[in-house]
Amino acid sequence: MTHAASYYAESRNDRRERPALAGDASCDVAIVGGGYTGLSAALHLAERGRKVILLEAHELGWGASGRNGGQVHSGQRRDQDTLEKWFGATQARRLWDLAEEAKATVKGLIARHAIDCDWRDGLIYAMHKPGYVAADHAYADRLARDYAYPHMTTLDRDQLAAAIGSSAFHGGTRDGDGGHLHALNYALGLARAAEAAGAVLHERSPVTHVIRGARPVVETASGRVTADAVILAGNGYLHGLDDDTEARVMPINNYILATEPLGSRINQFIPGGEAVADSRFVIYYWRPTADGRILFGGGETYTRRFPADIKGFVRKHLLNIYPGLADVRIDHAWGGTLAVTTNRLPYMRRLAPGLYTSGGYSGHGVATATLAGKLLAEAIAAETERFDVFQSIPSMKFPGGKLMRTPTLIMAMTWFALRDRL
Ligand SMILES: Cc1cc2nc3c(=O)[nH]c(=O)nc-3n(C[C@H](O)[C@H](O)[C@H](O)COP(=O)(O)OP(=O)(O)OC[C@H]3O[C@@H](n4cnc5c(N)ncnc54)[C@H](O)[C@@H]3O)c2cc1C
Repeated sequence: MTHAASYYAESRNDRRERPALAGDASCDVAIVGGGYTGLSAALHLAERGRKVILLEAHELGWGASGRNGGQVHSGQRRDQDTLEKWFGATQARRLWDLAEEAKATVKGLIARHAIDCDWRDGLIYAMHKPGYVAADHAYADRLARDYAYPHMTTLDRDQLAAAIGSSAFHGGTRDGDGGHLHALNYALGLARAAEAAGAVLHERSPVTHVIRGARPVVETASGRVTADAVILAGNGYLHGLDDDTEARVMPINNYILATEPLGSRINQFIPGGEAVADSRFVIYYWRPTADGRILFGGGETYTRRFPADIKGFVRKHLLNIYPGLADVRIDHAWGGTLAVTTNRLPYMRRLAPGLYTSGGYSGHGVATATLAGKLLAEAIAAETERFDVFQSIPSMKFPGGKLMRTPTLIMAMTWFALRDRL
């Protein structure tokens, strides 16, 4: 399949195609999936001199990596208070440091490989309930005090309204070190960098089987690759290759629209050009694009089918925040599948000697999947210490296993989504 009809697909700056796998091949590392996880792993492995073959079922960046909100957050998906409670101060600190490295890795790769992906600094958090503001401000102070993180500034109700052109929120914070980017152009930039380093990338090459063993084999309809190691990097699109991953990494669909270009009117909405994320369980998130649109995400579904009218589905959420945009044309609307875990922390595992899996970034994948690729490359080079920080985190299966996890999750998620409206 070609890219989803999105703002990203229309404005991508690289339309090169790569050939499908044909015949037998052999390499050091075979990678299943061409999103940020797979592409970052390919790049970091190739830079270490490994012979890499990556197989993408559709086109590079076709999955969540080419469709997402483009927001780059600080920290893990769970806050430091929770991580300290779960794992103790030392491990929580490691996870914070790795999240900081994830963000720095994204920025470093963009700079080092001159990836043209509209990077812009700044991410605002907007609290949709008055009772959340004090805790949000206290958390910003805590990060400054205990984690030496000086980039969060607090915003009262009026300051926030001025920063985002909406009075729908009660206060919030601004993270000057977070930011946003063009999701697909970032993925395609990673692909170019990986190829320049020597990785071989194939499109339209869905992997149908992984044969485990001393030298695992991945098979497609038109070829097979034998490797010393295999990485499963299919995330929310992984299906039928590893029950263990699929029981713990759960697909969720999320939806985005892009308005028409707003010209100078964009400054009424986000004068500082930041990305914005709110405090709902099913988050509203938005940002200006380089050509002056508002790209707005909101609404989730939990079965494989997308709503018939995605534009209408997301537009009602947009108008909750910006009723003044009722007259504006919606040029694009699309959906994508991400993946969550029960603890909302990534699931990274060495499943067997020479078989690795990584996914379930729970909405933080722009930075975390990029880092995962780097940690996978380290682990394959027997530098396992940092990969093991994640490998050691217990990860529960979704209740009901692979068959029943969807209905169980729908019940749980619907309950939390309802709470957003209370
Ligand atoms: C609508 C939406 C908004 C989001 N917003 C944000 C955001 O603002 N910030 C943020 O940090 N994160 C966000 N995310 C999450 C983020 O996009 C993901 O965490 C990240 O892209 C995951 O990258 P990945 O490479 O692991 O998976 P993907 O990008 O999904 O890539 C997996 C690839 O594997 C391929 N594949 C699967 N099975 C096979 C097979 N058998 N053979 C070959 N190839 C296969 C798929 O075709 C796919 O291209 C969002 C996600 C969505 C869907």
